[in-house]
Amino acid sequence: MSDQPIVRARHEHTVSRRQIIAEALHVLYRLKDHGYTAYLVGGGVRDLLLQRSPKDFDIGTNATPQEIRRLFNNCVLIGRRFRLAHILFGDTVIETSTFRRPPSHDPAAPDLLQTEDNEFGAPAEDAFRRDFTINGLFYNIEDFSVIDYVGGLADLDARIVRAIGDPEVRFREDPVRMLRAIRFAARLDFAIEDETMAALSRCRREILKASKPRLVEEIFRLFKFNAGERAVRLLWQTGMLEDLLPEIAAYLRASPDPENALLWRYLHFSAEQNGEEWEEIIVALFFPLILDRYQTTPSRISCHDLQVGISEVITPFMDRVGVPRRVRDLVRLIITTQYRFYARGKRKNFSRSRFAAQAWFPATLKLFTINTNIFTDAAAEDLDKWQDLMRREGGDVRARELAKTTGNPRRRRRGGKRHHRREERAAPPETLPRSIEEAAEES
Ligand code: ATP
Ligand code: MG
Repeated sequence: MSDQPIVRARHEHTVSRRQIIAEALHVLYRLKDHGYTAYLVGGGVRDLLLQRSPKDFDIGTNATPQEIRRLFNNCVLIGRRFRLAHILFGDTVIETSTFRRPPSHDPAAPDLLQTEDNEFGAPAEDAFRRDFTINGLFYNIEDFSVIDYVGGLADLDARIVRAIGDPEVRFREDPVRMLRAIRFAARLDFAIEDETMAALSRCRREILKASKPRLVEEIFRLFKFNAGERAVRLLWQTGMLEDLLPEIAAYLRASPDPENALLWRYLHFSAEQNGEEWEEIIVALFFPLILDRYQTTPSRISCHDLQVGISEVITPFMDRVGVPRRVRDLVRLIITTQYRFYARGKRKNFSRSRFAAQAWFPATLKLFTINTNIFTDAAAEDLDKWQDLMRREGGDVRARELAKTTGNPRRRRRGGKRHHRREERAAPPETLPRSIEEAAEES
């Protein structure tokens, strides 16, 4: 790594302007046409080089926030100290930020934890303040080249997540980076480079210093893009699971064969059902723990045991994390109604049609589908019938409408510490994970 970057010219890489959304191109060109440096930065460049479609397109520039605002009348500046520009095009937001430099450490200060936002800097400095080499690449709109100050191109080729700089320092500065390492490794199916991995295990308890809303947000983000099973396995391997999801860690520890525990099958099949909503993630993580507690299967567990199981196994977790009311209600409904799928014969006061018409029915049916994937049971033959009934009664349509109208914490465009307002909606800061509260008391 040096200040002399590797530059790959247009014909030496696969990133094409056609893959970049029009709004981002507009911002890049307008900055360039006014004499500023303008790069596509971060995850967008990484994903384009991997032939994946980026979740968002972020831009880095040497224009100051005020200068950016003067160029775009659809621009709002956010953040107090380090101001970011959000350039708005209807629902699309192009985040544009001025290049900044890494934090300078006071050698006398024992704690590296980064509390302040940084100062403006040069492009090279902006590359080095980023978290992982694969996230430190720039795409230059001036000549369509890819600029690499940090060795990200080689690591993309080798499929490696490697911290920029000393991994231990970087994790102490911002412990959430440890979860980001796991997220990228799990999502992209990359290996974590040895020293980065060793630092993860060494620094794992630092995670308790991260802000709670960010932590909760990052935990749920691990499950996007089918990455949940791999991510939880990495948390388990690194020991981070002990602090983040202590109940799950205890369950694995007590399991006679942790590598093949029922949990992994739930996470696997939940991903197959695109289970990315909070309630679906919580159910996939904790339903196997309830079965384990009663040493039973979905077709044999009683409604009563399901209810007690929720209160004793899941509620403590949801209290700690500050799961919104709506999600808690859904978790309860999804789980306690499972016995309906296994009940034989007619029941008084129960209508299958009314059941299938509920907005929460699709989520309930997903858990039933996962159950039938894992446990063979005669009830599995009804799966198609339930799906038909759901479509006929409109449960699927109602579910989609509900998801659109509720202030759904999962539908944010993105997270990170730049999105305080939206994070707070995801998890109110006054409700802390238990182990984190304990850590706060100890210190
Ligand atoms: P995703 O596809 O999930 O959005 P991303 O890499 O774009 O992944 P973001 O959270 O959107 O991640 O952040 C954008 C970029 O900002 C990252 O690629 C990285 O360069 C930088 N970044 C984000 N968070 C951190 C952090 N905690 N420390 C250092 N750099 C960060
Ligand atoms: Mg991003």
